[in-house]
Amino acid sequence: MPVLGRDVRVPLVTGGEVSYAALDYAASAPALQRVWDEVAAYAPYYGSVHRGAGHLSQLSTDLFEQSRATVARFLGCRDGAEGDGDDVVFTRSTTDSLNLLASALPEGTRVFVFETEHHASLLPWRASPTTFLDAPHSPGQAVATLEAALRAAPEGPKLVCVTGASNVTGEIWPVRQLAGAAHRHGARIVLDAAQLAPHHPVHIGELGVDWVAFSGHKLYAPFGAGVLAGRADWLRAAEPYLAGGGASRTVLRGADGGLDVEWRTGPARHEAGSPNVIGAYALAAACRALSEAGFEAIGGREAELTGRLLDGLARIPEVTVLSLFGAEATRVGVLSFVVDGWNSSHLATALSAEYGIGVRDGLFCAHPLVRKLLGAQRAEPGGCGAPEAPGEQSLNAVRVSFGAGTPDEHVERFLRAVGELVRYGARWRYRTEDGRCVPDSERDDDNDRAALAR
Ligand code: PMP
Repeated sequence: MPVLGRDVRVPLVTGGEVSYAALDYAASAPALQRVWDEVAAYAPYYGSVHRGAGHLSQLSTDLFEQSRATVARFLGCRDGAEGDGDDVVFTRSTTDSLNLLASALPEGTRVFVFETEHHASLLPWRASPTTFLDAPHSPGQAVATLEAALRAAPEGPKLVCVTGASNVTGEIWPVRQLAGAAHRHGARIVLDAAQLAPHHPVHIGELGVDWVAFSGHKLYAPFGAGVLAGRADWLRAAEPYLAGGGASRTVLRGADGGLDVEWRTGPARHEAGSPNVIGAYALAAACRALSEAGFEAIGGREAELTGRLLDGLARIPEVTVLSLFGAEATRVGVLSFVVDGWNSSHLATALSAEYGIGVRDGLFCAHPLVRKLLGAQRAEPGGCGAPEAPGEQSLNAVRVSFGAGTPDEHVERFLRAVGELVRYGARWRYRTEDGRCVPDSERDDDNDRAALAR
């Protein structure tokens, strides 16, 4: 599946330019060529949704609702005219989706969440009593930990929030088993599928989850839409997430001089304001493209590249790949690592400046998890310096991630680059600016000599 950006060339600090190797799909994936083409074909027909009498407004409204139906098919949503099935709500992102669900929890709902979650899954529940679960060291331990916590919980509504695949380690969580545990103890479960959906089928019924949240920009559709899909009952009973036009059916001045508002039920209840029809259309186009390509083929190719990456990194003794589940883990195309004697920001900057490779460094919006994996309780300020003592572990990590359209060459270049940097050191000099590592732009003698050294 071709993606945009394959021919983009970027300058190297050491001179010349190379094709850009995008290896940061876990942050935002490039657009699928097909998504881009479909959006371009629709763009001239763009019009307002649910608002206009004109032909293009009608067309856009139809396409918006068809996009909803496509996403519902992609996720295997359950029908239910009376609100006992699933609703698909278009949001801005996974973060937005989980905040929407947090705002719709019945009074007194207790939330259960592993400390290993992305902040988008960890933080939205602040208004609810929350049980934080310790990081498990195997999928089996994850299920046992959840069971024990649910067993000990007081009566009342409960929600479990789990991530399908970690944005740090790429490891896949035992979602079906966690859903089973949740339901055995009368809890509901929401799946943060931000990292799982681009790589793996996410079928609500087969996984047995109650809701799924994901983002278009990680699913090759970077047009600002996300999804919350799942059981309609709590969503329809909740106050609208946003108050405004579209969510309200009628608004009258009441006898007391205030407003009497009748809110819509269904997805529109939480989609106030003009909907992002291009985002929804692009997201649906991505769902169609991934379904047609087939997750078996997508997963097979990714497993091959992941295997090559893990083998290549294992040959560099200074590299430690981060893992929670160890040998039991199955992964999507995401992995993080640290290198003895290297500050991760320095390594990531050198990969970009000297090899044209885009990766991410830091704590990846999953601070408790990365700190636990690194055995560190404080974050390292960015910057270029080597860790304080030689051989001391960096207090943040480098993440490499890939997916549709990643050629072998990007993975090979990455492994060669890490090997060369670790063995011979950076060719350029770097300095710290605003907490970030940046190449020293002055072409002084030292930099020139270092660039020529190999
Ligand atoms: N959950 C996970 C597992 C993620 O990786 C991310 C994004 N890094 C999010 C949630 C949040 O996604 P978004 O930024 O699109 O809201």
